[in-house]
Amino acid sequence: MAGRRGFLQNIASMPVIGSLVPASLAVAAPTRRDFYKELGVGTFINAAGTYTTLTASLMWPEVVQAIEYASKSFVRLTDLHDAVGKRIAELLECEAAMVSSGAAAALTCGTAACVAGTNPEFIRRLPDIAGMKNEVIVQKTHRYGYDHAVRNVGIKFVEVEGEAELERAINEKTAMMLFFNASDKTPVSAERFIAIAKKHKIPTMNDAAADAPPTGVLKDLTKLGFDMVIFSGGKGIRGPQSAGLLLGRKDLIEAARLNTSPYSDSVGRGLKVNKEELLGMMVAVETFVKRDEKAEWKEWERRCKQIIDSVSSVKGVNTEVKVPQISNRVPHIHITWDEAKIKIKPKDVVKALREGTPAIEVTPSPADRVVVAVWMLQPNEAEIVAKRIREVLKSAS
Ligand SMILES: *Cc1c(COP(=O)(O)O)cnc(C)c1O
Repeated sequence: MAGRRGFLQNIASMPVIGSLVPASLAVAAPTRRDFYKELGVGTFINAAGTYTTLTASLMWPEVVQAIEYASKSFVRLTDLHDAVGKRIAELLECEAAMVSSGAAAALTCGTAACVAGTNPEFIRRLPDIAGMKNEVIVQKTHRYGYDHAVRNVGIKFVEVEGEAELERAINEKTAMMLFFNASDKTPVSAERFIAIAKKHKIPTMNDAAADAPPTGVLKDLTKLGFDMVIFSGGKGIRGPQSAGLLLGRKDLIEAARLNTSPYSDSVGRGLKVNKEELLGMMVAVETFVKRDEKAEWKEWERRCKQIIDSVSSVKGVNTEVKVPQISNRVPHIHITWDEAKIKIKPKDVVKALREGTPAIEVTPSPADRVVVAVWMLQPNEAEIVAKRIREVLKSAS
């Protein structure tokens, strides 16, 4: 009762004085509102995976608790950024870490670190890159949509094919070398890419946004020698959807921090991370690394079996479980059928599932199949998915 907070809590709880508090300042007890229903925004069973437009993943309950905790006190934002970064770096055994507002934001902040560094004039001037190192080397096969977040810094991409061309492209204007972890074509391997960069003292950045799980990858890529490694916080790690991780060299993470919020005059000021996301992301990493990976995998196999057993009971249906090699390394059920026997096209099955009750979203896939990912399903949903796909196929056979 000694503290001011105790005092305020006390008077608020006293009925007489409490009633003097204007209604607009009184904290109403939360009621259970069904917001999505109120707004007419449909929910669905996620048999698709961690797609951004489908809101990716559901946060761990521990993360939601941390967000709630964070929302109740003021802290100095940079203190919390420092402390959370330090904790994540310890957990993931890398030199330094920062929470970004998503993997794409980490691409921008990390690039700015290589271009403007800690130079106050350069930081203010971005994306005007005159007089700075402003070229980013990338393998031609590693160009992708998300590299827009690198171009936001004002840099110019220099595309290369093969080791010899890569080495020739390095010059005094080279700011960074970008690597896309999930690319299906990587003529210059990660190891060779790192070796060449180190020889010429050029910082490397690896975008591995969607590549966790497995857990190990969070440590492996910095240990392999990439100077900066990026993960999305809201995909498989199940943190806040607008959070991400930039892991790596201390000097670069420090520079990345100076090129973003809370520093007003920086290229990354729009990429703010709030206290709730900072703590939420930290707890997501803690929860993710200590979860039982084997038990999780077994549960996914159980769900696969349940769905496969159900849909295979329709004559003419074939199923196969595939695990992608790099990104989204989790079981996906590929369902195909003999269209002479079952007269419906895969896209119409997708539509029927989407428009059914409950609505179900499946993985975007080639036109000849329906692909189901089981890792984002909630308890008892595998059963519903199994039943609905069977119903739709059966009704066309
Ligand atoms: C999803 C993704 C991103 C963007 O991640 P956000 O956390 O949504 O910003 C960047 N790169 C790759 C390869 C991704 O898969």
